[in-house]
Amino acid sequence: MLFGFIFHSIYLSLASGIPLRYVFALGGNAFSSRNIATASKAIVSLHQKGNEIIVTHGNGPQVGELYLKEGKNLAILTEETERILGSRIRKALFRQSKKIKSKVVITKVLVDAKDKEFRNPTKPIGKYYQNKEDVPLGKRKFKVRKLSKGYRLVVPSPMPEAILDLREIEGYLSRGYIVIAAGGGGVAVIKKGMETRYADAVIDKDLASSALAEMVKADKFFILTDIDGAFLGYKTKNQKLLRKTRVNEAKKYLKAGDFEEGSMKPKVEACIMFAEKTGNPAVIGNISKIKDVIALKSTVILP
Ligand code: ADP
Ligand code: MG
Repeated sequence: MLFGFIFHSIYLSLASGIPLRYVFALGGNAFSSRNIATASKAIVSLHQKGNEIIVTHGNGPQVGELYLKEGKNLAILTEETERILGSRIRKALFRQSKKIKSKVVITKVLVDAKDKEFRNPTKPIGKYYQNKEDVPLGKRKFKVRKLSKGYRLVVPSPMPEAILDLREIEGYLSRGYIVIAAGGGGVAVIKKGMETRYADAVIDKDLASSALAEMVKADKFFILTDIDGAFLGYKTKNQKLLRKTRVNEAKKYLKAGDFEEGSMKPKVEACIMFAEKTGNPAVIGNISKIKDVIALKSTVILP
């Protein structure tokens, strides 16, 4: 029995490499049908080699539109985006192979009711506008902020403290499913006695995905977005793509203010957190070049 097991393990590692656990975070701003199809192809191929895969995704543009239309609490709207975008990812995976099993796990994430974000919101959602006056504020009259790509609404984005649906995620992973979880950073909830309550907030998907990747002890964590990686001197004529970088060095660039708040900064922070806590690499890259990103040819943060 033991020999059989050892033989089987050796066989597996020779035949297909040792199976690994990957977390892929797909950007809400990169969520086009073509990008999702490209990503699905690479993800299904990794899964067919025996690797375990969790897909997370952003929802900034989508939750912003729902907020203007429906005006509901942002955690409830995030739950809606988990269903809508999750089902789009499932369909794209299914198109790659009819044999793929996938599951959307609606994921609650605990946040602190006293988080400073509830007073000083920083998370951009909705569309970008070229003029400040054109940004619709919606029922709750959230603030507007200028970003490198234009003006956008900003809402509270508290730190994720705990992922509450880990058991379900682990359960589906062990049964061979590709798991789609923590969409839109997860559904933000606060503790109220023994119960939880929806928080009017959108958790940053990069930070939530990093927390999830850490909790499931992922071997690698990938953040896929609409740009080739993290640039130093972004949008200057000397801009330079960061390649393989140690955590300590990445922290220096972070402090120096090279990465914009609400877009690239949370990605670099998420990678640093993951690499530090697990000792494994975290990667940022372009979703349209996912093969290169998996081959570590973009921004890679190492412990
Ligand atoms: P996502 O939806 O994938 O999270 P974001 O728009 O939040 O996408 O973040 C990606 C964007 O970050 C890029 O399109 C770019 O405009 C912006 N950005 C800000 N600073 C940097 C930087 N230093 N390097 C690269 N991109 C940056
Ligand atoms: Mg983002």
